[in-house]
Amino acid sequence: MPYKIALYPGDGIGPEVITEAKKVLEAVGADCNFTHIDWNTTLYAKIGKCAPDDYLDKLKNFDAILLGALGNSHNAPDHIAVQPLLGMRRGFDQYVNLRPAVLYEGVECPLKNKKPYDIDMIVIRENTEGEYTPLGGRHYIGTPYEAAIQVNYFTRMGTERIIRYAFETARTRNRKHVTSITKSNALIHSMVLWDEVCREVAKDYPDVTWSSMLVDAAAMNFVRQPEIFDVVVCSNLFGDILTDLAAVIIGGMGFAASANLKPSKKYPSMFEPIHGSAPDIAGKGIANPLAAIMSAAMMLEFLGDEKNAMRIKHAVQSHLKESKVKTPDRGGTARTWEIGDDIVKRL
Ligand code: ATP
Repeated sequence: MPYKIALYPGDGIGPEVITEAKKVLEAVGADCNFTHIDWNTTLYAKIGKCAPDDYLDKLKNFDAILLGALGNSHNAPDHIAVQPLLGMRRGFDQYVNLRPAVLYEGVECPLKNKKPYDIDMIVIRENTEGEYTPLGGRHYIGTPYEAAIQVNYFTRMGTERIIRYAFETARTRNRKHVTSITKSNALIHSMVLWDEVCREVAKDYPDVTWSSMLVDAAAMNFVRQPEIFDVVVCSNLFGDILTDLAAVIIGGMGFAASANLKPSKKYPSMFEPIHGSAPDIAGKGIANPLAAIMSAAMMLEFLGDEKNAMRIKHAVQSHLKESKVKTPDRGGTARTWEIGDDIVKRL
């Protein structure tokens, strides 16, 4: 049975990079049946919504969703444009946000004296609760007494399952080390729970070493000594910030892929480049599609087609190593489609 894939390009450079990801999936011979989803901020201009009300129902029978990017502040407020993204993460209980950060051969690293693979980490971000719950409210709006409350919501269950996923992932890797990101010296309820749960979970994994690091120290160490990280596990907000930093130290947003996983496969998982819709370069044909292509490889791997996932990864690695065809973000002049074509040629 072919995999049922919802192709959801979205806004800005989303359609440009998803076109290349699809091209690569077809070239590698992945057994996928694609359905095009045309929800984005242009729809908002027409009907006042960025997706139909029953968007989760419409997506729930797919095996996976391959998303480009959402948001164009000219058409719709950003917090409305990203609602379907947050809705899918929560509605499909995609509690694992997986973001590998690897410094590949041929890629210029902005940090001094880093060799290929000196940076080789995977950041596992909690994706359904924490600081991004839509709980809270505004009071006395528009007055000098105006107040805003945003609730940070951490459950034992949500914390335990993400930390457990991190330890399980560490088991499959060479270094088998987990760094748990915390801020329990200041966030004395949520992060103290996080630390307690981490200590308990760690007892079940005597073969995995682990350490705890404050998020501010982690930000510093991502720049100062990124080689110390193997598996990094963090809350929603900390993961969001640290993974943008991770994307930059491996050479830029153009390479950073991600997966939003429901590990049991009860609901579809979603795969997307970390970058946004990049309105500054949208429509110019110069976006780097590698993050979308690598996200498509992560999708195949999760669905069980490991062979084709590896073929795409190797093609991307050889493309980067040779570094002849480069988009402007890497100092080249190539167009988006030329990158897709080059990957296809290598397949
Ligand atoms: P969001 O909040 O949705 O992440 P943003 O505007 O903060 O959006 P991006 O859209 O990711 O962030 O863009 C940040 C910068 O990186 C922009 O200058 C953009 O042009 C650049 N950029 C992002 N993705 C790519 C890409 N695939 N290829 C080249 N440049 C990119």
